[in-house]
Amino acid sequence: TDQPRPLAERPAEEVDAFLATAQESYDALRSAGLTLDLTRGKPAPAQLDLSARLLDLPEGHTSRDGVDTRNYGGLEGLPELREMFAELLGLEPDQLVAGGNASLVMMREVLVNLVLHGGVDSERPWGQEEKVTFICPVPGYDRHFTLLDWLGIETVTVEMHEDGPDVEEVARLAAADPSIKGMWLVPTYANPTGSVVTQEVAERLASMPTAAPDFKIFWDNAYALHHLTTAEAKSADIVSLASAAGHPHRPVVFASTSKITFAGAGVAFLGGSVETVRWYLAHLGKGSIGPDKVNHLRHVQFFGTAQGVRNHMARHREIIAPKFAEVDRVLEERLGGLEVASWTRPAGGYFVSLDVLDGTASRVIALAKQAGVALTPAGSAFPGSHDPRDRNIRLAPTFPQPAEVTAAMEAVATCVRLAAAEKLVA
Ligand code: PLP
Repeated sequence: TDQPRPLAERPAEEVDAFLATAQESYDALRSAGLTLDLTRGKPAPAQLDLSARLLDLPEGHTSRDGVDTRNYGGLEGLPELREMFAELLGLEPDQLVAGGNASLVMMREVLVNLVLHGGVDSERPWGQEEKVTFICPVPGYDRHFTLLDWLGIETVTVEMHEDGPDVEEVARLAAADPSIKGMWLVPTYANPTGSVVTQEVAERLASMPTAAPDFKIFWDNAYALHHLTTAEAKSADIVSLASAAGHPHRPVVFASTSKITFAGAGVAFLGGSVETVRWYLAHLGKGSIGPDKVNHLRHVQFFGTAQGVRNHMARHREIIAPKFAEVDRVLEERLGGLEVASWTRPAGGYFVSLDVLDGTASRVIALAKQAGVALTPAGSAFPGSHDPRDRNIRLAPTFPQPAEVTAAMEAVATCVRLAAAEKLVA
């Protein structure tokens, strides 16, 4: 079939007619009384079921080294689990800590430690600086930004491209301003754009001169293993790159099994130079005598090997890749050629990033809400929830059932068509 003509290029009468039809479709949608939710970037029950056997583990309670995992101790986490995930994350085991269930908690701990005490390469605690600023690639992960806000850390945004953040701009900002102490980065299958940081971009980030001697890259590799295709992206080895460039303590790596086993009962990891790991543990030790090693042992027995983790991820892919394909199919069918929206086709991760006509994202989200379809609030992928172009919408298709993904995306497309027509008529 022929692609429809771009809406903005059509004569006024045609756009008027398009608007009338879009309004009718929307009215029909509203009377359908849907209740759907595309906001939740979490695994579907079928994905959680893949790890059901975890609930019957561990067998016994003794670690490889004869440690009784039920007791206190072992702050850095069970060695066999650290070895398994070090292999997967491209680190050495002594560069990795296995902790509790949430890497977000580790991110908060690291930031709080930096504010109160400074890092291994800091001149003073960040809290004694007049101002601390973070570079935030956008669109990005809302909780990264609210965490900075909570600590009074300022933000400066750079654009997220397909190969990672606008690295020229990052390098320019970091070189010029000593208050710029760090940056967020989701290097592989970013939330929400699906971007993958290339080797070149990673090298530049690892080696760029920074005005602050203790500049930190918060390398949040939450989706390192979450491939949606068999062409599996490999994350750059940021710790080795930074070390080779003479900035060994620049990266702090985060990951977790939240979207591998159980989002609420998995294992989180922190990585970096051996000194960074020691620094983290010294602070952690003020509040913990040891992590949940029973859970660590459970995970070791469940996966067996690093390859066991990769095999497990392929089963996730079988469940969620069709949902992502459906998002793309519906958007293409309903919006293709109109030039009123563009969207990502991620090769991994948990999100699709949809850009609608400037100034219409909040309208689309409001329309969807009135039709019973929950979308992530407008602007949430930006610091301060402020999307300067009011165009970005984050879609999370993993949790709903396949039929719900279809219905929700049909609804989203109907709202995008209406909001675009309203704008072009106005
Ligand atoms: N980092 C990113 C980029 C995420 O998207 C999420 C969850 O959506 C998290 C971290 C949370 O990770 P965790 O469950 O390990 O706290």
